[in-house]
Amino acid sequence: MNDPAERKIQSEIHGLNALRHIERICEFGDRFVGTEGDQKTLNYVRDHYEKLGLKIELTNIRVPTYEERSIELVLTDTGTELKAISPYFTEACPDGIEGELVYIGEGRENDYDGIAVGGKIVVLNEASTGWDWFWLGPFSKRAATHGAVGLIIIHPFPWPNRMSMEAGNFDIRHRFVDQQVPSVCISALDGLTVMHHIGQGKTNTYLKIDSEIHDVDSVILSGVIEGSQWPEERIALIGHRDSPIPPAANDNGSGIGCQLEMARVLSGFRPKRSVEFICSTAEEGSAPGAWHFVQAHKERLPKMNALINLDMLGTGGRLNLAEQGQWHDTEPIEFAPWLLEKLENVADELGYYVGRIVAETTSEETRFHEAGVPSAWLYKWDDYYYHSEHDTPEKIDPNSLKAVIDIVAIAIWRLANEEPGS
Ligand SMILES: [Zn+2]
Repeated sequence: MNDPAERKIQSEIHGLNALRHIERICEFGDRFVGTEGDQKTLNYVRDHYEKLGLKIELTNIRVPTYEERSIELVLTDTGTELKAISPYFTEACPDGIEGELVYIGEGRENDYDGIAVGGKIVVLNEASTGWDWFWLGPFSKRAATHGAVGLIIIHPFPWPNRMSMEAGNFDIRHRFVDQQVPSVCISALDGLTVMHHIGQGKTNTYLKIDSEIHDVDSVILSGVIEGSQWPEERIALIGHRDSPIPPAANDNGSGIGCQLEMARVLSGFRPKRSVEFICSTAEEGSAPGAWHFVQAHKERLPKMNALINLDMLGTGGRLNLAEQGQWHDTEPIEFAPWLLEKLENVADELGYYVGRIVAETTSEETRFHEAGVPSAWLYKWDDYYYHSEHDTPEKIDPNSLKAVIDIVAIAIWRLANEEPGS
């Protein structure tokens, strides 16, 4: 790397600055779209971009939000109370329901053969299948179709996890299933208690979910460094500021922290093309926020030469690029090979390594990819605290953040300055 600007960029980037941002953002509480925490994070990022002299652009969105107020799950034969977390967008039961538990294995269609679940609360065990049950919509619909009144999911880890009651479809019109039952997730440890109770015939259970789904307004913020030569062309970075469950340090405080540090350093330089930092919301779920953004800016997207998504980079093992992903209603999605290679080459030059993975479902970059923008997602998939209350700032490694910011900042700098057609 002989370019003095590149050397200067790399030397000015500090992972600890990104971590400090993450710590601040985690103090804002719940950041699900439309909450006070979402707004506070927006203000925090906007404030920084204004101070750095970035041009501010706002894209208004209106999307459904989910608020969990309280959950009660009690095995009433013994009075045992369990800690449960509802998947976002589950149906509520604010007056509580009572039912007998019935174990239904993995909850696939054939698991219901010969088992009477009418009026009962079905128990599904995620442990046997691992991670592929994030999108609970189809499982909940199946339980409803068979006449069950509630659903309990046993998570494979020792803490409950916030999943989604969406269908797992990429098509925004088919985001939700048309029929579901009130559902909660419990830890593997509480799952043992539940299974022990079922084994002893002590199956009476009380479940109360006080929660709400309604539409909210929010804003996707862009901070733009104007290009000196081809300002209408843009290289974009995106990160979502909304969270599944607080404090959400890694998902996605890490992406926002990296974005803020990168903006701080790059704002001291004048690239030939414009650089756009997108601080999005409503990624949680099937990325409806990014869908709205893409709809709102269709006419300028052909001049967005590349988009890089930073989502979950502060914990876990190897840093990865998603080279492929798939939703329930799509064929495998292949991300722009030239862009992945560009990022890999920069990493290699800087002495870092980026692997490749096939993601299960994908994140906001896919909304841009579908609109024709070459897109990439940097991601560490193996965050065992994912979507739990344990996703806290002290687990974030600032040296990991430094590596990510170095790689992406240099790649963006090159993309913003290279001659047309190179
Ligand atoms: Zn995320």
